[in-house]
Amino acid sequence: MNNLTDRELHGGCACGAFRFTARGTPSRVSLCHCMTCRKHLAAPFGAFAIYQADQVTLSSAPTIMFKSSGDGRRYSCAACGSPVYDRYDGQDEVELMFGSFDDTSIFTPTYELWVKRRENWLPPLQHAPHLYDADRPATAPREAPNEGSESL
Ligand SMILES: [Zn+2]
Ligand SMILES: [Zn+2]
Repeated sequence: MNNLTDRELHGGCACGAFRFTARGTPSRVSLCHCMTCRKHLAAPFGAFAIYQADQVTLSSAPTIMFKSSGDGRRYSCAACGSPVYDRYDGQDEVELMFGSFDDTSIFTPTYELWVKRRENWLPPLQHAPHLYDADRPATAPREAPNEGSESL
């Protein structure tokens, strides 16, 4: 992660209609095991690189929006349906998914959310010092995405 300061990373959806560029180092890098991430991504967990909004350029290709919680907005390519980014009301951030980057092996997560939902076959991350059983507590350091008021 140390060499990412001046780096420009590119990614996009499966069909190529929607593209993004992310500049510099993400604010946080996480895994989330919540059911909303799993359902939305059709995957056993979500993996996110979270940037300040002004670090990210999003293409103007049409998207569809899924309101995943009170403040959560998840956007997918309107042409192929691939999830492409998430935003949360009141936060000046853009959440990009590992699998959307052209190089999917760039990031190493440093924390996990909704650990109580982690798949039995999936061990804890070796290098993730912060594990949260569900959403991050209000007193947590500013390092976890706001999952909204998910009821499980
Ligand atoms: Zn697409
Ligand atoms: Zn989640």
